[in-house]
Amino acid sequence: MKNAVLITIGDEILSGSTVDTNSNFIAAELKNIGIKVIQIFTISDQIETIKKTISSAFDLGDIIITTGGLGPTRDDKTKKAIAEFFNDEIALDEETFAHLKAYMERRGRTEILERNREQAFVPTKSKVFQNHNGTAPCMMMEENGKLLFSLPGVPYEVKPLIKDQIVPYLKDKFSLHYLSTRIVSVVGIPESILADKIENWELALPENLSLSYLPVGTRVKLRLTASGEDDSILQQQLEDEIQKLLPLLEDHVIATSQDKIEKILADILTDKKLTLSTAESCTGGELAKMITSVSGSSNYFLGGIVSYATEKKIDILKVKKETVEEFTVVSEQVAAEMAEGCQKLFNTDISLSTTGVAGPRKGEDGKEVGTVFYTIRIKDQEVTSKLYMPHLDRLDFMHFVAQKVIQDLV
Ligand code: ATP
Ligand code: MG
Repeated sequence: MKNAVLITIGDEILSGSTVDTNSNFIAAELKNIGIKVIQIFTISDQIETIKKTISSAFDLGDIIITTGGLGPTRDDKTKKAIAEFFNDEIALDEETFAHLKAYMERRGRTEILERNREQAFVPTKSKVFQNHNGTAPCMMMEENGKLLFSLPGVPYEVKPLIKDQIVPYLKDKFSLHYLSTRIVSVVGIPESILADKIENWELALPENLSLSYLPVGTRVKLRLTASGEDDSILQQQLEDEIQKLLPLLEDHVIATSQDKIEKILADILTDKKLTLSTAESCTGGELAKMITSVSGSSNYFLGGIVSYATEKKIDILKVKKETVEEFTVVSEQVAAEMAEGCQKLFNTDISLSTTGVAGPRKGEDGKEVGTVFYTIRIKDQEVTSKLYMPHLDRLDFMHFVAQKVIQDLV
């Protein structure tokens, strides 16, 4: 199995102003073709640091991928570092320059600045992968059978370069196999009983298929992975095995393809033709955001209210003033009334509500930070639950609660 090392270059990542999403994307894409990322370095934009890190990376892995620091600005030093590391010169590459000019013209830029022309300069020994979404090309250097790819930092440039050019190139070069995965999400059955139920099926799996159990909250994800030469054969194999598995699990299965809970929700609501609305307080819209992150959510999600102020819960959602006075705003009763009000307001089959204290300051009525009540209302039935998670920071808390509410619903 080939190993890869990723190097994320940029002071903005070290300073915490940018989250490194490139490594996450690249690692997942490489995994699909059986390349394992064994280390990720995050380093500053300094020539010496970049050179030293490339050297360490070459000791560790077969494939090195750097992102960042290829732009036309002074703080972008990766290209120089690479040329120095490989004792190479940088020279104008005509093909890259033509590509760059065409790219800029398509965007209405007819004047090519020297700064832009410099982007078509590459190490003379490099192989260039043209960037169709930006001005910095991807360069590949090869030494002793090991490869270094240097990509720009902008995620929407990185993704197509990796997916459409580098992954196919690596697959071809190293005759790599495909890995395909399907996930079956199961609820309401303890892992040990589940393992018993499917033992015979698991033992009879073809050799190129493997199974793993991934518990996520109250759900268990069964991940079936197949490896082989031909992706369409693998897909068929996975489908065949899942069709054998489903009858063993009866109605414990909530999804057979999607990984994310919001996508599972989408499948279920679309299938059952149910509509949904949300009334949020402590999650500040996170629930609505997760729900609408799925394309096609407009088919079932009619809308949400972020009723942060107590009087808005009363005005808009028709929570009773007396309920707030008697039980406080962070209470089971208020959560339930919010959900009911929301369901009426949007006229949906299902409504979800949250009320709690995200912290770090205590709630005004003295409720502990981390306390949440949430209601799931389906037609005229409702269930209200309480969660207490004092250790999460504000944003993690919001996300966790939203995730949990959707998970309970599906
Ligand atoms: P540019 O031509 O835009 O200057 P570049 O190759 O020089 O591209 P950087 O300057 O390092 O790349 O990064 C450009 C922008 O891309 C950054 O401001 C940041 O928003 C984003 N970015 C860089 N690296 C990453 C990363 N690892 N994950 C997510 N975003 C990143
Ligand atoms: Mg830059």
